[in-house]
Amino acid sequence: MSEAALEAAGVDSYLKCDAKQQPKWPDADAVREVTSRLRQVPPLVFAGEADVLREQLAAAGRGEAFVLQGGDCAEMFAEATADHIQNKIKTILQMAVILTYGSSTPIVKMGRMAGQYAKPRSADTETRDGVTLPAYRGDIVNSHAFTEESRVPNPERLMDAYHVSSSTLNLMRAFTQGGFADLRRVHAWNKGFAANPAYAKYEQLAAQIDRAVRFMGAAGGDFDALKSVDLFSSHEALLLDYERALTRIDSRTGNAYDCSAHFLWIGERTRELDGAHVEFMSKIHNPIGVKLGPTATGEDALALAERLNPENVPGRLTFVARMGAPRVRESLPPIVERVRDAGINVTWLTDPMHGNTFTSDSGYKTRRFDTILDEVQGFFEVHREAGTVAGGLHVELTGDDVTEVMGGVEEIDDAGLAQRYETKVDPRLNHQQSLEMAFQVSELLSQR
Ligand code: PEP
Ligand code: MN
Repeated sequence: MSEAALEAAGVDSYLKCDAKQQPKWPDADAVREVTSRLRQVPPLVFAGEADVLREQLAAAGRGEAFVLQGGDCAEMFAEATADHIQNKIKTILQMAVILTYGSSTPIVKMGRMAGQYAKPRSADTETRDGVTLPAYRGDIVNSHAFTEESRVPNPERLMDAYHVSSSTLNLMRAFTQGGFADLRRVHAWNKGFAANPAYAKYEQLAAQIDRAVRFMGAAGGDFDALKSVDLFSSHEALLLDYERALTRIDSRTGNAYDCSAHFLWIGERTRELDGAHVEFMSKIHNPIGVKLGPTATGEDALALAERLNPENVPGRLTFVARMGAPRVRESLPPIVERVRDAGINVTWLTDPMHGNTFTSDSGYKTRRFDTILDEVQGFFEVHREAGTVAGGLHVELTGDDVTEVMGGVEEIDDAGLAQRYETKVDPRLNHQQSLEMAFQVSELLSQR
């Protein structure tokens, strides 16, 4: 029955469209075998949860909340350990407390977690020392190791991705519901950060937050209600074999939901109107996002909204602008203004990471903290000017002490990158840089 209902919901219409960035599976039967098993597994998330998130994103679109979406560029199966996951969640929760203070609104928290395993690549192959192999496309497709065997797309990895997502999500749910997220505890972690003399410039804001928390306690604030928080899962819906296989019919409404995550987005490289990704995402009812890079136009944005949210449902559609710091103040205003003038409901996020990547002199793919911050500032300026809402922040981060992004108070320089450069794809803010970013954005939010 459910397969017939999915067919009736039109979720296979994407098969007629061109799908960019898909692996060349060597054995189509093996893919069919795995995806038919995946069609039977329990959903990772529930339609009702995705609906709650849609409402929260709608609030962020109106300026009544602010979105924080963060996590790895590419999650790795081997790094789905309790420590890594806990550190990442802790970092997101710490950032959220700081942002709550600046925005005086709830923070909608989404991890690029529990499913961020598929990566679009600008080249199909990678050459090292004269050897050319297929590119690494994320752990859901192949392995990063530079051997011929590792780089062959292996469909068993679709099933592995499901199981690793499931155990990651289990920890996300446990940590955010089981007392770990208690406001007073998260606040105490932040006090530890601000006590480090290097971060003296954030001391005043940290002290203000401290006073606010103590005031709440003295005024009889209900801390019990603040012991648990919602942390939603999200990833780029890139690998359509996987996303389709995790799609289910919601028994309450008969609508299709992609139950691989609460929120899914279409990447900058796969957002063409007649492409398979836009077609597939038009058929599911989750809240969704689309990345918009510097070549996007107001026309593109309007056409995407018409395809993906024809009923103009608030919270259904998020645009994630990733223009690059030098361009955001010129490229973004015409798009924001067109969307505003057309009366389209969109939640606007800034991704200040992907337009600001470069290769350092020593050969590391990196980004500068100040450039990232500059794009965020530009994003806020554009929205203030247009009278629209800067709705949230989308960043690549880790809870660990890596050295991948240059700058920050600890002033990681080119030579410093080598110390602990661990990412297999894009450079991430480390724990301290993430908190620093939250303090900076908190200031911007207090003037929003
Ligand atoms: C990403 O979010 O890791 C990514 C590839 O982004 P974009 O689609 O904006 O390039
Ligand atoms: Mn990335």
